[in-house]
Amino acid sequence: MFRPGDLIAHRLTVLPEKAAPLPGKAAGAYLGLAVGDALGATVEFLTPNEIRHQYGVHRDLTGGGWLRLKAGQVTDDTTMSLALGRAILAAGGVRAQAAADAFDAWMRARPVDVGNTVRRNLIRFRGTGNPQATVCEHDAGNGAAMRVLPVALACYGQPEEKIIAASRAQAHVTHHNALSDAACETLVFVVHDLLAGRDAADAFQRRAEALVGAYPAFAFDKKRRENPSGYVVETMQAVFQGSVSTSSFEDCLLDVVNRGGDADTTGAIAGMLAGARYGVEGIPRRWLRALDGKIAAQCSEQAHALLALAGFGEPA
Ligand code: MN
Ligand code: MN
Repeated sequence: MFRPGDLIAHRLTVLPEKAAPLPGKAAGAYLGLAVGDALGATVEFLTPNEIRHQYGVHRDLTGGGWLRLKAGQVTDDTTMSLALGRAILAAGGVRAQAAADAFDAWMRARPVDVGNTVRRNLIRFRGTGNPQATVCEHDAGNGAAMRVLPVALACYGQPEEKIIAASRAQAHVTHHNALSDAACETLVFVVHDLLAGRDAADAFQRRAEALVGAYPAFAFDKKRRENPSGYVVETMQAVFQGSVSTSSFEDCLLDVVNRGGDADTTGAIAGMLAGARYGVEGIPRRWLRALDGKIAAQCSEQAHALLALAGFGEPA
């Protein structure tokens, strides 16, 4: 069983004080991803009204949901990210083949949930050995966007073309689609802005303008996006709305997951951004305490190791 003391002890060993605040933000992003996934999974596929009826405001890592999770248990959003992170660390960089092999092994290990597009393209990969899916205008789901964090950390500080190439290499294993690409790259750039300590409101504004300028469908300033589906456009709208309208990790996550719909994935992505923004210290203690301890340790370790791979901090 994971206790808050374990996390603090763990952080003190792998994240020396002198290296803060960047490692604290990177670990915050990874733990935020896992916390948001575990929090949102309970209400995945419910509407905001159903959530209100059953929970009032859903505010704790209670497990349950359609996947019948244990309290603090995470889903594919976090476990695919961790599989990708391990592959990046083993290969010494972002490689499509290593990512595809890692996702294939991940699916063989019978995860609690697997997205339809992910499953279809991993089965295709088993047949062809080609780590790049065919371009598909229908594959605009959020399955590649939910697992961008290890790429963002491994590419921190690199030139833009390299970041984009790495983002697409991981994404195209299962999602080869322009809207998915644009969302993935936007998320990576926002994570970089926040890790660098740039003003969050300004970063969201600038990155959103660029995204909406290229793909107007992403515009999120009109109507409150409730019950977001797995369509990456709706995911990004809910996440951006929740992020720009709140000023704490907790408020952001409560806003986003109580919209229901694909709540584990909007929760994971919003948690990643809010964790990079507010750091580990900004994540409510009760959520860190409740999170699966093994997963929490892996998130913290990978955050540190991936940053070290990017040239920031010492290798573990
Ligand atoms: Mn999930
Ligand atoms: Mn989901």
